Amino acid sequence: MKFERYGIGIAKGMTVTMRNLLRRRITTQYPEQKLTVSRRTRGNELVWNKEKCTGCATCAKTCPQGVIHIVTSVGEENNYNVEVFEVDTGYCISCGLCVEACPYDALFMAYAFELAKYRRSELVLSRDDMLIENKQASAYFRPEVDKDLPEQELLINRKE
Ligand code: SF4
Ligand code: SF4
Repeated sequence: MKFERYGIGIAKGMTVTMRNLLRRRITTQYPEQKLTVSRRTRGNELVWNKEKCTGCATCAKTCPQGVIHIVTSVGEENNYNVEVFEVDTGYCISCGLCVEACPYDALFMAYAFELAKYRRSELVLSRDDMLIENKQASAYFRPEVDKDLPEQELLINRKE
């Protein structure tokens, strides 16, 4: 009776082994091999369009972490000039609320994700660090960006 139970256990174990031996691989050799992330990914930085930004600071007021720092001055046409626009990505939780709250579509989540730094101070991004001219924006809450990004490979839609 005991032998029968052992036999069933081995058979079940071998079934699992064979199933996993023959199935499609789902791992890759990162960082040598990289998969394309979702177009709507929330990378760990923000991308900023200075042409569209009015300096209203809605994003800063919305941020639950209080990590967006904006200083403005009054311009000649009674507009705001954005003097300082800083984001401390070390405390940012990538919630995307600032992007969703921006009334002028001037703020985006980033598409890049390999942004680790050796020094804490390097995680604070200035306005020049976030310029949309130099960064790839994510399509998170910005569907118009979708067409500029490649198809996702990670987790789903993976062709191999
Ligand atoms: S993503 Fe969230 S935590 Fe990060 S800056 Fe925007 S609102 Fe703040
Ligand atoms: S909410 Fe948008 S327009 Fe207003 S300061 Fe932030 S990025 Fe600029």
